[in-house]
Amino acid sequence: MSPQPSSAIRRSTTAAETNMSLDRPGLDELVPSRYAVKIGAIDVMVISDGVVTPPAESMATNADPAVRAAWLDSMFLSREAFDWALNAVVVRTGGRTILIDSGLGVEVPDFPRAGNLVHRLEAAGIDLASVTDVVLTHMHFDHVGGLLVDGVKERLRPDLRIHVAAAEAKFWESPDFSRTAMGPILSDVARRAAKHFLNEYHGQLRPFEAEYEVAPGVVVQRTGGHTPGHSVVRLASGGDRLTFGGDAVFPVSFDHPEWHNGFEHDPEEATRVRVRLLRELAANRESLVSTHMPFPSVGRVAVAGDLFRWVPTWWDY
Ligand SMILES: [Zn+2]
Repeated sequence: MSPQPSSAIRRSTTAAETNMSLDRPGLDELVPSRYAVKIGAIDVMVISDGVVTPPAESMATNADPAVRAAWLDSMFLSREAFDWALNAVVVRTGGRTILIDSGLGVEVPDFPRAGNLVHRLEAAGIDLASVTDVVLTHMHFDHVGGLLVDGVKERLRPDLRIHVAAAEAKFWESPDFSRTAMGPILSDVARRAAKHFLNEYHGQLRPFEAEYEVAPGVVVQRTGGHTPGHSVVRLASGGDRLTFGGDAVFPVSFDHPEWHNGFEHDPEEATRVRVRLLRELAANRESLVSTHMPFPSVGRVAVAGDLFRWVPTWWDY
């Protein structure tokens, strides 16, 4: 296969972006970047956008540093920065193709290993022009960035619908970072990406209040917490269920659901949302996929005493 994508995409021109433009090899990657599951009649495909490497302290801002370091050691992870998966999902049902989140794009030059969504969609045979709906769990740069890459908007349908909580769009008009640990640089990136997104796509936005059924069996529900309009997507068909948890659940959340993530705008509420969701998923045994769980990020939640346990789904070829 040719390593060059076939479409005529305008190249990004800054040095920082040359590694991250759409014009890079991707179709012959050795490690698979997609994983498909079926939820009843609904086709679900997890697509890896790549990996980002935030500072390790950002995964537990309220933890004793020694306890956090011990947890990282126990997981064989670096104490400085950890590889954080970045997943998006494509849902196909009843003639609709629904993209949930869009990865990083080229928003953070320091994270050159992410921003792969578009060519990995192509590698999976999914044309941007076939996407009828986008659902955004929230408007952080690692979720809207893929829509902001040069040339992407032009390849999306003019009648594309983008579903996002009304509270989320409102929040980013004047965002508050005072409870996060994002620091001035990432806060600026977040502010700029959300503004860019709202400018580019305001005509396509379909804001919802508490929840919205995007297609039969595909419901987006606002949870708040991580951001005021953070939402999860619930899939249900033929007795099967799967939830895309967005940024409600992180890899550390099973051992330490009480640990605050540095990207949470209301960490206490985010913790309540997380624990409620994990308890519900453990009780009803449905599948969970989350943005930052290790690829392919499909698994179930078990209860382990007062805590939780992540049980990855066994790969099924
Ligand atoms: Zn995220």
